[in-house]
Amino acid sequence: MATLEIRDLHVSVGDGSDGAKEILRGVDLTVKAGEIHAIMGPNGSGKSTLAYAVAGHPKYEITSGSVTLDGEDVLEMSVDERARAGLFLAMQYPVEVPGVSVSNFLRSAVTAVRGEAPKLREFTKEMKRAMDDLSIDPAFAQRSLNEGFSGGEKKRHEILQLELLRPKVAVLDETDSGLDVDALKVVSEGINRFSGGETGVLLITHYTRILRYVQPDFVHVFAGGRIVAAGGPELAEELENEGYEKYVKAGVSA
Ligand code: ADP
Ligand code: MG
Ligand code: MG
Repeated sequence: MATLEIRDLHVSVGDGSDGAKEILRGVDLTVKAGEIHAIMGPNGSGKSTLAYAVAGHPKYEITSGSVTLDGEDVLEMSVDERARAGLFLAMQYPVEVPGVSVSNFLRSAVTAVRGEAPKLREFTKEMKRAMDDLSIDPAFAQRSLNEGFSGGEKKRHEILQLELLRPKVAVLDETDSGLDVDALKVVSEGINRFSGGETGVLLITHYTRILRYVQPDFVHVFAGGRIVAAGGPELAEELENEGYEKYVKAGVSA
């Protein structure tokens, strides 16, 4: 069974001028196939840094700790190797690429992950089926990648990638900026389709609203660059009612 293990991860980020600043201060987390984990925390607590570090973004320096997928050292892998190993990191592809259609992009992504190009006809069928399942307008496949995508369209595209790539573990960073209800539902439906299946999901979010649609198996509270509390779905409810205040204090003093 696929397992992503993050052990005592410390990550610094520096802009080069005034030295590196430690953002992650010892993160421990295990995500297994079929589990949904929510990481929730206030703005600036380091949630996106965790996602970027696992994705292999060059700006984020791992100063200690480990990340493994089924025992393989993820931190030694290139970004492409991470994808081939079965990691899906949503923010890997945030760029607008005029002239590259969604369909072409998806076929290259599938080719990169599977190690060989799927036959065009079969891929087109597979893509259409996935789009149909996700209620995505067929015309979407011909749009230029990310160009003028609404929040909802970006999310649909993300979930479409998940559906086609079938990763072992997906890390989804729900940016704190306003996802509309439509987008939230798309993400949620997508995630729910994977729960109980072969994919483990790490859902990073600031707001509790998405958890009205997705039932996580585990909720982790993130503050001051580490996990300061963990529990089940009831923890998300507590956060919705009481906010992060008491955890922020714990994170600072820890
Ligand atoms: P969150 O996603 O929880 O809002 P982030 O991981 O985005 O938190 O940011 C955590 C802290 O790290 C913040 O203080 C932020 O300013 C800093 N930080 C994150 N990325 C960078 C970067 N590329 N350069 C400089 N500082 C950064
Ligand atoms: Mg932020
Ligand atoms: Mg963030």
